[in-house]
Amino acid sequence: MKKYIFVAGGVMSGIGKGIATASIGKILKSKGFGVTAVKIDPYVNVDAGTMNPVEHGEVFVTKDGSECDQDIGNYERFLGRELTKKNYITTGKVYKAVIERERNLDYDGKCVEVVPDIPNETIKRIKRAAKEDEADFTLIEIGGTIGEYQNLLFLEAARMMKLDEPEKVLFILVSYLPTPKTIGEMKTKPTQNASRRLNEAGIQPDMILGRAEQPLDEPRKNKISNFCNVEKKYIISAPDVDSIYDIPLNFEREELGNMILDKFNMKKQDTEMKEWKKMVKASKNGGDKVSIAIVGKYFETGQFTLTDSYISVIEAVKHASWDQEISVDIDWIFAEEYEKDEEKIKELDNYDGVIIPGGFGSRGVEGKIKTINYCRENKIPFLGLCLGMQLSVIEFSRNVAGLKKANSTEFDSNCQYPVIDMMEEQKELIENSNFGGTMRLGDYKCKLKKGTKANTLYEKTDILERHRHRYEFNDKFKDTLKKSGLILSGKNPETGLVEIVELEEHPFFVGVQFHPEFKSAPLKPHPLFKEFLKTAKEH
Ligand code: GLN
Repeated sequence: MKKYIFVAGGVMSGIGKGIATASIGKILKSKGFGVTAVKIDPYVNVDAGTMNPVEHGEVFVTKDGSECDQDIGNYERFLGRELTKKNYITTGKVYKAVIERERNLDYDGKCVEVVPDIPNETIKRIKRAAKEDEADFTLIEIGGTIGEYQNLLFLEAARMMKLDEPEKVLFILVSYLPTPKTIGEMKTKPTQNASRRLNEAGIQPDMILGRAEQPLDEPRKNKISNFCNVEKKYIISAPDVDSIYDIPLNFEREELGNMILDKFNMKKQDTEMKEWKKMVKASKNGGDKVSIAIVGKYFETGQFTLTDSYISVIEAVKHASWDQEISVDIDWIFAEEYEKDEEKIKELDNYDGVIIPGGFGSRGVEGKIKTINYCRENKIPFLGLCLGMQLSVIEFSRNVAGLKKANSTEFDSNCQYPVIDMMEEQKELIENSNFGGTMRLGDYKCKLKKGTKANTLYEKTDILERHRHRYEFNDKFKDTLKKSGLILSGKNPETGLVEIVELEEHPFFVGVQFHPEFKSAPLKPHPLFKEFLKTAKEH
């Protein structure tokens, strides 16, 4: 008997609906059930690949190469399982499928209508995910906020599922309770309104998770219970926490998992979260302080700095730091600052390690190359991810191999030494403006050269990592760069594409064409990040 739990958000975005969904999943999994999760994004974009990360946050990549919302990353990290493109639904995907089917006469001449055909296609996709993932429980997070026009058809899908099989469907509203400074009291009205808007869509929440700075007190619970028509015991506090990984434990303390089972008329089950508890404890142990700089560009939004674009990198650093028993401070550096002010780069002396994450386009690139140069010459541990790897090849070519005008054709299509060049199969796609979902995406194999740092830290020679790029190391420069000392320590066994570069006589200088951050989980820190932090700690 498959069960479906819909999670929708009230009042505003950014209140941790994705983490709440992932945490509920974690709890049910710890009770011995098969669990999967689906994210529904109301965007017309078919996937997240065409969205600017500053607007939408990180583009997470699954093993089968789907470009998804960052919440898919949260689900993978909490559930400890790999998800695929079926776990990510968007308005664009649903409409595209319905229109294609209509063009193929698959609706047998009937009128194809927004309702019920769009919700029906959504339901089909949800059920397919539940089936393929062999899930007892499927969590479905409806993106956006209640009251928005955009997600109404998905609420309609949820309502239809409940009507069809009431005993199998549960609704959880994650809502925000503000405590305005001038009032000094936690207010329930916005949540009451969110719950009413949900009622307008034909949905009665079964439970409400009250996100707030503090736990909800009795008067607040009474009000919400009364005005939102939800029994008081099903109003759960979800106060702010230091670490997102605390949340499943906090929910468990309120017996959320057993309440859900009870709602489904299922027997209570014990939770097994020993490993998780150990990890959460280790995350609070502190230890030596290590400072890491992340030099990037996707964090400006008006007057605010947002780090959502790099969420998997941040999490991967944290996971590895607990394993290394250190505490990490991450600083965000705008790459462009090093282009404007030559002297500023010396501030990198204050860091124990530097990461250059993935990116696109030429803005900030020269500042990142300067950063790499400084790390290489001053022996500061350096980890380059995707674009970070490509720029380390450019830096090395220019300043060690004597190819002064080396560059990537992404930034200068006519450069003298295109040490990074567009992959052959990408050229036609780009000429035809065929951008969506066409990069080299998802899992690809990499063979590591015996005796290299990469080989030592992975403790094997065959690895599988996730990718998202159009440009690659240009093999024409292989011999020149090798002669100058660049070690090509990992290659794709089928195409020979260079996947990893490293340097000797440097404590840690590694660039990878892939995104190891997507495979790191709190219970499975990634070897590259572990070794990077180990060296940073020694530094
Ligand atoms: N812009 C580079 C490419 O397309 C790097 C991409 C990335 O960092 N994800 O190859």
